[in-house]
Amino acid sequence: MLTQLIPAADFLKLTLDNPDGLAPFQFTLDNGTSVQVWDSGVICFEPYGATNEDVVLSCGVHGNETAPIEICAAIVKDILNERLAPSVRLLVLFGNPPAINAGSREITENLNRLFSGHHSKGAGLINAERRRAKALEQYVSQFYQQSRVTNQATRNRSLYDLHTAIRGSRFEKFAVCPFLHGKPWRKAEFAFLAACDVHTVLLMQTPATTFSYYASNEHEAHSFTIELGKVKPFGQNDMARFGRADSSLRALIRNEPVKAGAFDAEKFNMYKVYRSIVKQTQDFKLHFANDIENFTSYPPGTLLATDGDIEYRVEQEGEALIFPNAKVAIGQRAMLMVVPASVADNLA
Ligand code: ZN
Repeated sequence: MLTQLIPAADFLKLTLDNPDGLAPFQFTLDNGTSVQVWDSGVICFEPYGATNEDVVLSCGVHGNETAPIEICAAIVKDILNERLAPSVRLLVLFGNPPAINAGSREITENLNRLFSGHHSKGAGLINAERRRAKALEQYVSQFYQQSRVTNQATRNRSLYDLHTAIRGSRFEKFAVCPFLHGKPWRKAEFAFLAACDVHTVLLMQTPATTFSYYASNEHEAHSFTIELGKVKPFGQNDMARFGRADSSLRALIRNEPVKAGAFDAEKFNMYKVYRSIVKQTQDFKLHFANDIENFTSYPPGTLLATDGDIEYRVEQEGEALIFPNAKVAIGQRAMLMVVPASVADNLA
């Protein structure tokens, strides 16, 4: 039956053959796992036994970020082939199927700037990415609300949105922790990141339009945007570099105690946002090499960018730059400046 519904257990192929939508269907595996396909790129697994864990894994929110797509596609295939039996409720999302097909970051708009209702602001639901952002929010809401345990307070929600960065990074892997509105950072979550070989965390200080902030703010999910390395085309990723992330995600899905490792602040590079540089004119220009790595820092006073008459220089010792992109639209963030930070004062 499975081979008729999802040929070769290849849900990514089924998704990419039907990028604009898929009629829902469901079936049960021999091991009792319930499988529900909700849409193109949206597949939900319910384990046979009871669980308090609701895990969302997303990839392909940027269509050319292939390594996380390959990791998630292999996980789904192994679940469908009963080589991996989930012990948690699991929703796997392939974010932007048309962009994955096109091998591009986006078709018309950056999907990861459209969450928390921004899909419907301004001109409204005018393109596929805006409609997809709204649909993904609805699927995440449906997933977190639909559970076998009636006492919602006992449930542990998480969402890991997997990406790869456009440029290289001084720290190859890093996570972005959305703004928590004063709620404590979680040792167990940092321990999970460490298990994924992620030892650098950027702590955001303001609300954002990202998927991870949406999950954290709307659903109180423990949530991160995880950057696993540099963008490469399909088939050109050295999957060995993602081995620890892959095995930790699989352990999470089997509900093994992957989050129980001790948190050691000494082993982390924690940064917080110091300032966000927004492009204001067409003349915005970066004054460093194009292939600069994320988290590069320069001495105070160094000229970083000009924007018409405005000059941006390094203001603080240790200030580092991240996500520089002069090509963004006017009014969008062209670069973030970050400084070393500590989480010691608000850790649970
Ligand atoms: Zn991305």
